[in-house]
Amino acid sequence: MDFALTDEQRILQQSLAAFARAELAPHYTRWDRNREFPAKIWPRLGQMGVFGLRVPEELGGNGLSYLEAGLAIEQVAKGDFNVCYGILNACFAGDIIGRFASPDIRDAWLAPLAAGQKILSVCLTEPHCGSDAAAIRTRAVRDGDHFVVNGEKSAITLLMAADAAILFARTAPEKKAAGVSAFLLPLDSPGLSKSRYEDMGGRGIVRGSLFLDDVRIPAANMIGPENAGFTQVMQTFDYTRALIGLMCLGAAEQTLEETVDYVKGRQAFGQPISKNQGVSFPLAEAKAKLEMLRWLCYRTLWLRDQGLPHTAEAAMCKAEGPALCADVIRDCLVLHGHYGYTQDFPVEQRYRDVLGQMIADGTPQIMKMIIARHMLGREFA
Ligand SMILES: Cc1cc2nc3c(=O)[nH]c(=O)nc-3n(C[C@H](O)[C@H](O)[C@H](O)COP(=O)(O)OP(=O)(O)OC[C@H]3O[C@@H](n4cnc5c(N)ncnc54)[C@H](O)[C@@H]3O)c2cc1C
Repeated sequence: MDFALTDEQRILQQSLAAFARAELAPHYTRWDRNREFPAKIWPRLGQMGVFGLRVPEELGGNGLSYLEAGLAIEQVAKGDFNVCYGILNACFAGDIIGRFASPDIRDAWLAPLAAGQKILSVCLTEPHCGSDAAAIRTRAVRDGDHFVVNGEKSAITLLMAADAAILFARTAPEKKAAGVSAFLLPLDSPGLSKSRYEDMGGRGIVRGSLFLDDVRIPAANMIGPENAGFTQVMQTFDYTRALIGLMCLGAAEQTLEETVDYVKGRQAFGQPISKNQGVSFPLAEAKAKLEMLRWLCYRTLWLRDQGLPHTAEAAMCKAEGPALCADVIRDCLVLHGHYGYTQDFPVEQRYRDVLGQMIADGTPQIMKMIIARHMLGREFA
């Protein structure tokens, strides 16, 4: 058992930590206040390599390991939690397109995605179903060398800024999970319209709904074999759930560091408030729990790098990680007194932002169903 990182991995952490501190953190609250997509920093994030983590080197990315993608997202989240949605989407799309799309699609999209010049969304959820994702109704019907697609996608991260989407649609109505295919859908295609949400957090990630009305997608844009889309997406969620654990961890760690400084500087009853165990013990508990989360996430990604099963571990990262981090941030907010409740500190925003990741990519309940199935077997769970 070797817990040591390589020199290259430590350099990756250090350079992204410095970047997050200097170039992301100063603007984190601005995108939230203005409800603005951070278009100005997107190409800079591309230059830093964070959108190419899981894009193969020969296709314009860094081709890093799953663990290294996790190390990267944790550091970026310390500066700006919300830009990490872009990293998640790029990791997801980089993997799916890199492994399953045609050479033409790979060549057209992966290098600009890695450079931060193009943005991709992932369209799975629909108004009537999210947890039960295999129940999607958006229908793709073959018409010669095209598919004609009708339906509605909801909850889509980065939709209002995206250039294309990985779209999941039903190609075999008589089957459930085995009747879903994936397509690369350019978002300037005729027949598309969008509407934006007003979210409580993650306001810069401009989520929205996508409406598809007789949209024609070339059959060559299908990603992977027909009716295999659902299986592919589920395999990819297994590792993005560990990335989400680390993304939330970065935000919680940063909040914890800021809170340590705050409680040493704030005086009550003639001494720093940090002298009270009622203040220092929640911080100590948070430190211990975040450390547990970190190693669970790292190990899950390591398992994936080794080609070993990791579905249950990934579900554990997602079931417990965002909730734990939200709890830590809320406790830190209270330790700031009334200032924590104001927009003078980023802590209230981080609380709102992290809550979104309790739902995105699967709720804690759905994650616990996955863990229970592994423990008890499908027959008894
Ligand atoms: C910030 C954010 C970003 C997102 N980004 C995207 C995106 O980019 N692309 C995309 O496709 N989707 C995205 N989503 C959607 C997300 O994946 C879904 O919201 C999520 O899977 C839950 O689906 P739902 O909202 O339809 O809730 P439902 O499935 O209706 O569930 C409602 C509640 O019932 C519970 N529940 C459901 N079934 C069971 C059960 N069998 N046992 C116990 N409890 C159950 C759930 O846990 C939940 O608490 C995003 C969501 C958020 C909040």
